[in-house]
Amino acid sequence: MEKILLTDLHRQYDSIKGEIDEAIADVIAQKSFIRGPFVEQFETNFARATNIPYCIGVGNGTDALFIALKTLGIGPGDEVITAANGFIATPEAITMTGAKVVFADCDNYFGIDPKDITRKISSRTKAIIPVHLYGQMAEMDAIMAIAGKHGLFVIEDSAQAVLASYNGTPAGGYGHFATFSFFPGKNLGAYGDAGALVTTDKELYTRAKMYANHGRVNKYDHKFEGINSRMDGIQGAILNVKLKYLSRWTEKRIEIASRYSSLLDSVKGIELPMQRAGAHHVFHIYPILTEPALRDKLLEFLNNAGIGAGIHYPIALPNLEAYRYLGHKPEDFPNASEFSHRLISLPIFPELKDTEIDFIVRQINNFYERDAS
Ligand SMILES: *Cc1c(COP(=O)(O)O)cnc(C)c1O
Repeated sequence: MEKILLTDLHRQYDSIKGEIDEAIADVIAQKSFIRGPFVEQFETNFARATNIPYCIGVGNGTDALFIALKTLGIGPGDEVITAANGFIATPEAITMTGAKVVFADCDNYFGIDPKDITRKISSRTKAIIPVHLYGQMAEMDAIMAIAGKHGLFVIEDSAQAVLASYNGTPAGGYGHFATFSFFPGKNLGAYGDAGALVTTDKELYTRAKMYANHGRVNKYDHKFEGINSRMDGIQGAILNVKLKYLSRWTEKRIEIASRYSSLLDSVKGIELPMQRAGAHHVFHIYPILTEPALRDKLLEFLNNAGIGAGIHYPIALPNLEAYRYLGHKPEDFPNASEFSHRLISLPIFPELKDTEIDFIVRQINNFYERDAS
């Protein structure tokens, strides 16, 4: 069998090559390299797809978080609470503003735990950034209740959760902003770096859009200092093509996840990803939990069989060298620390074939049978 990648971007390109190549050629012909009509069209289309009124295309998902924080006035002296499990971009954006990162542990659905948020609130807390990790939204009703009670801003890091919803409300429908990444491997991936913010608030939209483009209202009229974080025309044009397929691709991901879950249900030794009641999970990642002692062995076994399984993420954020200065111990974040030793991400992408899923499942079964004997 051909090697199975964690995400295979070639298969997707092959399926839409004509349209993509044409879109890129159009951008070059119109020399519409930075923002411009292709990006504006994408902003309109993405706002419609996510069901949130305002969208700003920016340079990448990390910038999107930073722009949201700066627009909300977060800076030195402030604290921002975010999840202890996930990718470094989220806390990095907090630090970039001069504010202090405060981690909260995750729940069994891999979302930030509202109870631990409450414990971490201080008089300096200004905002919460829940991360809709792996494609499933965090416990947003509880998080918004906490934010309301303490007067905190909420930014939903939706980098992995495009088209996800919770109790019918889409990512971005709860917080002041939701941010997205179109890193090539994300569910909606560009062919380079790109990202976006969405908001339901027109004033926040206007300020954030200016901040991302040197604080300008027009070419040389700058109302304040901002940054340069604008989506490229080529990325906007590519994303416009791909956005048409996104709901179909998302349905495929959900089908693949449910095939994995039904086939793996009987395997002793692994736990399957749980879905929150009311959550529409878009499965950017399909994570399983193994016994800690067998995780690396199973991963190696799968990799040796040509299966590109991976780990998201092998070190919980507070345990990274980058955050040693916060002085945490792994026991401070029991779930995030434990999961980092137990997680394996199985290949998932819309073009993954049933025969490949069956092969992956067979290899997992083989591993446990071999291990048991
Ligand atoms: C990918 C990702 C980001 C960062 O996005 P970039 O576009 O790579 O800057 C932020 N948060 C999460 C949860 C991500 O998965």
